[in-house]
Amino acid sequence: MSDQCVFCDIVSGTSPASWVYQDDTVVAIMDIQPITQGHMLVVPREHAALMTDINETTAMRTFRVARSLAAIAKRALDAGGVNIFVADGEVAFQDVPHFHVHVIPRYAHDGFGFTFPGTYEQPPTRVQLDAIAEALRAAATPATA
Ligand SMILES: [Zn+2]
Repeated sequence: MSDQCVFCDIVSGTSPASWVYQDDTVVAIMDIQPITQGHMLVVPREHAALMTDINETTAMRTFRVARSLAAIAKRALDAGGVNIFVADGEVAFQDVPHFHVHVIPRYAHDGFGFTFPGTYEQPPTRVQLDAIAEALRAAATPATA
């Protein structure tokens, strides 16, 4: 638990939330500023800022619940699809420094989109891709590979 963490306050019951699901490891709540109808957050009970700060079992439970809620949203809200999104770090638009997974139901013409950098239209060569892949393989350890 962390001082002044809104998600820790929700998990402990000291701040209100619209709860969707809870178990001994994670909770799922409605996002208070939804991108689309049914936008949910799956939040581990344990405080950790980043995805790599939590143990693998908790991380996998978080994604497993997100996957299940995505299927439920499609049935219950008639969503045509779902985006699962993690903002891991401030540069990646993480707004609350307590790891969470967004479950964002999608509807035709719902207005949600992605903006890609200009380099998207000039993709790297195979040689450049191979060099990046090699650097990543070289950095990997058995625990993270
Ligand atoms: Zn927290």
